[in-house]
Amino acid sequence: MFQHKMNSKQNTVLVTGANGYLASWIVKKLLIEGHNVHATVRDIHNKEKINHLLEYGKKYKGNIKFFSADLIEKNSFDEAMRNCSIIFHTASPFKLEIKDSIKELINPALDGTKNVFSSADKVDSIKKIVLTSSVAAMYTDASECKNLINNEITELVWNKTASVNYQPYSYSKTLAEKEAWRLYKKQRKWELVVINPSLVLGPFPNATQNTSESINLLKQIGDGTFKIGVPKMPIGVVDVRDVADAHYEAAFNKNASGRYITSAYNTSFLEISKLLNSEFGDSFPIPKRPLPKWLVFLIGPLLNKALTRKYIRNNFNKDFRANNNKIQKELGINFRPLKQTLIESFQSLIDQKII
Ligand code: NAP
Repeated sequence: MFQHKMNSKQNTVLVTGANGYLASWIVKKLLIEGHNVHATVRDIHNKEKINHLLEYGKKYKGNIKFFSADLIEKNSFDEAMRNCSIIFHTASPFKLEIKDSIKELINPALDGTKNVFSSADKVDSIKKIVLTSSVAAMYTDASECKNLINNEITELVWNKTASVNYQPYSYSKTLAEKEAWRLYKKQRKWELVVINPSLVLGPFPNATQNTSESINLLKQIGDGTFKIGVPKMPIGVVDVRDVADAHYEAAFNKNASGRYITSAYNTSFLEISKLLNSEFGDSFPIPKRPLPKWLVFLIGPLLNKALTRKYIRNNFNKDFRANNNKIQKELGINFRPLKQTLIESFQSLIDQKII
């Protein structure tokens, strides 16, 4: 088994966007381990968004305290940060169906990072920031992989092709992570460790309230949107519980440093659909055939706004390869089987009547 020395004492830590899909699992892990969590949400009075976190607070060892904070409001995180030693900065919009990419994605991601990180400079107790970035900060589409060594994404790679108009979510994550490293280099008070997950799937603790695109993508595979076939396009997948563990290790494992690709499987939407079809195909219109390229061109942009012609051209029938050696070796993360992740995600959408 992987050995490392953990800082086992109880810490007070901040989790931004604590009600989010991924953050909820991070909060749960922290509370189980007995840490005190300062949880920021946009509106602490919106109980439907935080009921599951309140339950965790009752059930597990650590304590949870809620604070209101918005990424685009200056100094919004100051109060929540007080007495915290570690910040888990996860809050950032993950949506593909948007009208105004600057307002809806880029400003909250970039200004939010500036905001949270500049507050960290002011609060003496902060020793480390764990940032949730994405493999989207490393690449936009498969066309970028063809010039890489072994056509593989590693922690050395940065996204060069996303823009305000092309895959703006990827652009928002690239700008935010670059800004994080820039601000880190300007000071000597806190450490920075960055987690770069691929598509996160796995049980959704509060699917009716979360706006994560993970839910929408999985829902579309099950609700008939793609019933005539699924685009043969590559994607990396990782289980949300493994990503939460990765954040935890990034915070407390003495080996943690730099960026970590957190992607368990280099797979495709077709393989995901086939695996789900074998389990749920009798009850749900889950595709098991690939859509021909001409049809993807024709209907792709109508099914999902991120499926632009350019994205399809650069990805169709291509591979995605992300090298996940670093996180396994340095942080001891063992990834769950893909089929388990998919089945448990889909089941949680059924249980919550999303599909
Ligand atoms: P999510 O459930 O939508 O969580 C996003 C969180 O950010 C929510 O708590 C949301 O609050 C908060 N947020 C958005 N805009 C905000 C603002 N202006 N002020 C304050 N909070 C704001 O999505 P998720 O999938 O868990 O994503 C969490 C993080 O993981 C993001 O940084 C995302 O880029 C990253 N990530 C996700 C994936 C994935 O496949 N899911 C992959 C790689 C990286 P509300 O609930 O109030 O909107």
